[in-house]
Amino acid sequence: MILQIALDTPLRRVFDYRPPAHFQGPGAPPLGVRVRVPFGRRQLVGILVGVACESAVVAPKLKDALAILDEQPIVDPVTFDLLRWAAEYYHHPLGEVFAAALPVSMRAGQPAQQTIKCWCVSETGRRELSAPSGRRAPQQRALLAWLSERDRATIDEVGEAFQPAQLRALAARGWVQAVAPDPAAVGPAALESRPSEVALTLHQANCVAAILASLPGYAAHLLYGVTGSGKTEVYLRVIAAAIAEGGQALVLVPEIALTPQLVDRFRRRFSSGVVAVHSALSGTERRDAWRAAHNGQARIIIGTRSAVFTSLPKLALIVVDEEHDASYKQHEGFRYSARDLAVIRARGAAVPIILGSATPSLETLENSATGRYFKHLLPQRAGTAQPPRMTLVDLRKHAADQGLSTPAIQAMAQHLKAGGQIIVFLNRRGYAPCLYCNACGWVAPCARCDARMTLHRHAQQLRCHHCGAHSGVPNICASCSQALNPVGQGTERVEETLARLFPEAPLARLDRDTASARGAVQGVLDRVHSGEARILIGTQMLTKGHHFPEVSLVVILDADQGLFASDFRATERLAQTITQVAGRAGRGRLAGEVLIQTEFPEHPLLNRLIEEGYEGFAVSALEERREAGWPPYSRLAMLRAEAKDSLGLDAFLRAALDSSALLKEAAVKLLGPASALIARRADHFRAHLLAETASRAALQRFLKNWLPLVERLPGPPGLRWSIDVDPLEVD
Ligand code: ADP
Ligand code: ZN
Ligand code: ZN
Repeated sequence: MILQIALDTPLRRVFDYRPPAHFQGPGAPPLGVRVRVPFGRRQLVGILVGVACESAVVAPKLKDALAILDEQPIVDPVTFDLLRWAAEYYHHPLGEVFAAALPVSMRAGQPAQQTIKCWCVSETGRRELSAPSGRRAPQQRALLAWLSERDRATIDEVGEAFQPAQLRALAARGWVQAVAPDPAAVGPAALESRPSEVALTLHQANCVAAILASLPGYAAHLLYGVTGSGKTEVYLRVIAAAIAEGGQALVLVPEIALTPQLVDRFRRRFSSGVVAVHSALSGTERRDAWRAAHNGQARIIIGTRSAVFTSLPKLALIVVDEEHDASYKQHEGFRYSARDLAVIRARGAAVPIILGSATPSLETLENSATGRYFKHLLPQRAGTAQPPRMTLVDLRKHAADQGLSTPAIQAMAQHLKAGGQIIVFLNRRGYAPCLYCNACGWVAPCARCDARMTLHRHAQQLRCHHCGAHSGVPNICASCSQALNPVGQGTERVEETLARLFPEAPLARLDRDTASARGAVQGVLDRVHSGEARILIGTQMLTKGHHFPEVSLVVILDADQGLFASDFRATERLAQTITQVAGRAGRGRLAGEVLIQTEFPEHPLLNRLIEEGYEGFAVSALEERREAGWPPYSRLAMLRAEAKDSLGLDAFLRAALDSSALLKEAAVKLLGPASALIARRADHFRAHLLAETASRAALQRFLKNWLPLVERLPGPPGLRWSIDVDPLEVD
């Protein structure tokens, strides 16, 4: 018998081993168990993915596995299939795919089930208790009496009242014995769902009823609800019904640190069994959360991207909140889309999936137009809130003070006076995007990238936002020795300007710089929720579903980033960002107003967005995609490569292009090589080939045959390349 093991290595193959020497099964172990194997001079933990009769490896080289670590597969059967499917679809080594799915402790071989050991009083112990006490060991007798009253206790519980050493002493005397834990403590957590504080609106009630009507079985539902329409309430109701019989729900969110409110709402509604998986968890907490999900104890799992791989044997429903969010796509290593995999998983598990958004991706809209997904609308805000009023501010006509136009400053003064809070959005952190010499035109560059350094004045640094390089701030121009000026605005500079313009209004800033410290995000959000901060300035982080009821004005400082970008998805991103940021205004009792500053007020995208909303934008954007043959009307894959030697890089990509000609896959067009938008980053040149076709099957066939050829091509020293199926960005 030969065990085929997926190991966490970059090689696109599985590894053959003989069963461990002591192994004596009646049959083979089940697929999906972990196996410890020798690998070179190391030992690795891999996953059993196949069993064969023979191996191509010659007998003396074939090694014995060391141990089979599990009796049962490490993930539920649907997840096991999902991981294998994902490795094929994304053309990524299976071992690395499993590694991405499992927490570190599971990869290291820790037990998949919690080994809770309980102690209870033994027969001898009972006799000792009923015997006259005397003066012997009063502490131990006290513990014995305590234990006999409780039936059984874990070592942790004992430790709360007694010294653990006392327990060991009792065990040595044979007065206590180890027993299995109380079955009630390991079964699924009882899910007590509390009644909602609100009555559903008619639209919400219709959505809930329509989604529940599809139970049980697979169905994909787009919940297309404008910002503030109460999508979360719909999720909560559907989840309560779908898992009432002991099932589990998986809720994917873009970023948990930014949306603590959402987790709170789930915790308040469901008394127990809600587990949030996020990056701030310690290794032990992560392991415990994983085990609770895997043994069916946890009932609702809220997590980011990688939570799509959580083992959930009783999965009954999946929710993907803000399904358009780019963070569902993993951008390095195993490049998967958690949103897309969630749909595949729901289908495999035969359960419904809800994709929620106020600004659905064009892919998802197309899927609902063709009937693959059901579409449910929440066209109005919940409660009495009205949609915000949106206006363009022509930056060419109005004077501006450090990026803030006169109409924007006036509106801010009015809203502050009326007691509203204000959000100022600028998707650029730092103080100024460049340091410029007025005399000769020199701009401080990054030495390692084709990019400029951003000035961070508070930190007294120039930083490259592409490679992380940093340096001190030069006083004079490197070329002509004249003084240098910061040009343009980042959030740090806008904060300074606002402090000068509105000295009486406390400010809060939310961007990657202010959010880096632990707990800093929560601190900023708390200051806004409490009403202490009157103006919140920030980047993209502001768009993630926050609910600040007192915000009445949103100012978008620069709508023009993205209007003319070369990436075919740039306008979709821009429309989503503007709509989401705008959607923070007027969610409570105050009416909302949104000012969008632009130098191109006649631009059709901005006008359509204001007049027809995201819906109108999406209709015309899909039309453009269809004409240009971009997704969702075509399928893409990108071969990205980088190396220090630009000529060698180019030669490698040309050879890869040539090798594709052998495959005669006429339906797949291969474009390039083309340089990346930032052609040199961290001293590496970057370029790519783009495969494009109308047929998913043709693309898959092509990649399957082409990548082995690419793997064998020579390349310059240090060459790195990767394949990105369904890339989000193509430049
Ligand atoms: P979305 O996620 O669609 O942007 P939320 O779920 O955050 O919207 O809901 C926005 C606000 O509306 C929240 O304060 C929520 O409590 C409230 N809300 C939701 N449903 C109702 C309802 N049926 N009646 C009154 N208020 C509601
Ligand atoms: Zn100069
Ligand atoms: Zn750089």
